Amino acid sequence: MPCDDWSALLERYRRAVLAYSQAVTSLPLTPGYHFDKVWQRAEKERAEAGISRAALLNHEHEHACLGHSLASRATAAGTQDTEELVLGDQGQSGG
Ligand SMILES: [Zn+2]
Repeated sequence: MPCDDWSALLERYRRAVLAYSQAVTSLPLTPGYHFDKVWQRAEKERAEAGISRAALLNHEHEHACLGHSLASRATAAGTQDTEELVLGDQGQSGG
């Protein structure tokens, strides 16, 4: 059974990914000052998404309150490569 900390970390990750998605979606179609400002915000949200994902996986690994590994599930589902392309390597071993 996941603990309250895990639920809070998941909520943080969900919010970060949503904020990142919204920032990228709102990028203007032409370069310029406004594009640069939105891009910077998107980069900040991207970093937060990576950090919060790593914190979630780290908690799962350290606390073992789920009883299984999220990282191995992601690999089994074939989503690991996609996430690494989007979020970069967050230092997860994947196993
Ligand atoms: Zn826990």
